[in-house]
Amino acid sequence: MMNDDCVFCNSVGGELLWQNDLCRIVMVEDASYVGFCRVILNKHVKEMTDLTEAERVNIMHITFTVEQVLRDVLQPTKINLASLGNKTPHIHWHVIPRFENDAHFPETIWSAEVRLSHKPTIDGLLDILKAKFLGALR
Ligand SMILES: [Zn+2]
Repeated sequence: MMNDDCVFCNSVGGELLWQNDLCRIVMVEDASYVGFCRVILNKHVKEMTDLTEAERVNIMHITFTVEQVLRDVLQPTKINLASLGNKTPHIHWHVIPRFENDAHFPETIWSAEVRLSHKPTIDGLLDILKAKFLGALR
């Protein structure tokens, strides 16, 4: 269930924060966004409806846990939850904390920038998130 041309089959896809047999949570290195996480399935499957019911429930539980942790830690204006996969048809959920003064708000992060914005720096964010996910997920 791997695909040689797929970036998520061939790499972790970011800084690994947590994982189980089904999926992993990574932090995305992004020039504009702090705390941008992805939940990536550990096998090459295209659509949520290709998963079993139990797998769907599990990956959404994990995705919503990421959302809650990012809300608790960063207090964003809004969470953007996105699943596109047009370029990389391997199930992954983007969980993106958004702020009124970020580079694209209120447009999507994939739109043209609407303002100059500096990415906030949060000391120890990686370790904070790792600890929170470890506590919230088993
Ligand atoms: Zn893949």
